[in-house]
Amino acid sequence: MDDRQVSKVGSKALLKRMNRMRVLNTVRERAHIGRAEVADITGISRASVTYLVGELVKDGWLIEYDKGETTQAGGRPPILLQFNPDAMYAVVVMIGSERTTVAVGDGNAHMRYRETQPSVLGRSADEVVDVVVDMIGRALDTSGVDRQRVGGVAIGVPGLVDAHNSIVHYSARLPVMRDIDLGSMIATRVGLPVMVENETRLIGWGELKFGSGRGYSPLVCVSVTLGIGSCIILEDRMLSGSSYSAGQFGHMTIDEHGPLCECGNRGCWEALASSAAVLQRARGLDAAWAAEPTIPAILDAVKNGDRQAGKLMHETAVHLGIGLANIINIVNPSIIVLHGKMFEAGDAFLQTIRQTVSSRALKLPALNTRLIVSELGEQAGLAGGVTLVMRSVLESPLEQRANPFYV
Ligand SMILES: [Zn+2]
Repeated sequence: MDDRQVSKVGSKALLKRMNRMRVLNTVRERAHIGRAEVADITGISRASVTYLVGELVKDGWLIEYDKGETTQAGGRPPILLQFNPDAMYAVVVMIGSERTTVAVGDGNAHMRYRETQPSVLGRSADEVVDVVVDMIGRALDTSGVDRQRVGGVAIGVPGLVDAHNSIVHYSARLPVMRDIDLGSMIATRVGLPVMVENETRLIGWGELKFGSGRGYSPLVCVSVTLGIGSCIILEDRMLSGSSYSAGQFGHMTIDEHGPLCECGNRGCWEALASSAAVLQRARGLDAAWAAEPTIPAILDAVKNGDRQAGKLMHETAVHLGIGLANIINIVNPSIIVLHGKMFEAGDAFLQTIRQTVSSRALKLPALNTRLIVSELGEQAGLAGGVTLVMRSVLESPLEQRANPFYV
């Protein structure tokens, strides 16, 4: 063969590989679908789709089953296809400020294994890496999944993360994480591809693909824990920004004379409305539950009619509402998904948030933004990690270029 023939054979193989990926991802994204529909969506000929599906079924990527509706003409119901959730697994690590969790999820983001350990706060970066590598090792050894089918590791960290290079630049909650190439440090030790992302962005991906955010754009996710994390997903792309802080509203100023924030500024949203801020204010109160306060204890006190606790949570709801009103005005999202223990505070708390939003945000955007509390809860970040691993492994570079994860 001369060079031209070789390159023709090469490009044919590449085209086939790309079409195979497109067929696989079309089925994966849409769950239950027939061959004809795959051909219509992808523009690949029906004959090629039939051939590629045959290969993908043989290789264990797709499952076919016979549950389609009988056609109007009384014809045979079409054989439907679905992605085989056991075809690939993902390891997901959430390094939160309150705890560290490692899980192994299948392609449908069902967790096959989970281990949670106390927070790594106060440890050095090397110690954090040791803890995470140990936990990943245990997950791979004891989850029972075929290691050959683990596509990679996704790690969520609070703070500014360069997801392209898996570098953690800054984390107010985990100050040892400063300009750390966390991805490489862990990848070399576990022998798997590692992706690192801001923890709330993982939660956002989970909500978009598996939770209440399905089909919504722009989607905003707000997670209130010791800090306040948030993200914006626009048309299936994470808004990242030039320095990775786009969509992260925790450090917007709500009160210029407000309390000092971990970031050095005064009156940031998270210095007023995060769990840490609530606990800080609770400590100054004269009540039995305020000596060593926890969010559940404060919520219990509210339920028991404690006036000080009620006032504290009312003020917090107002602060949350002010921040959400700003987000609604700036982003004009279709949906805001709220995460965090605090949103279990009951109807009055959510009512105050909604009232603050409707009195402060521009009317039309406020009316058209769904404000909901996550149903997935802690599962969302893990599901988001699975989403990132699946996308990075199963989408061809060309598709990723056409529709990058980040803008
Ligand atoms: Zn701040």
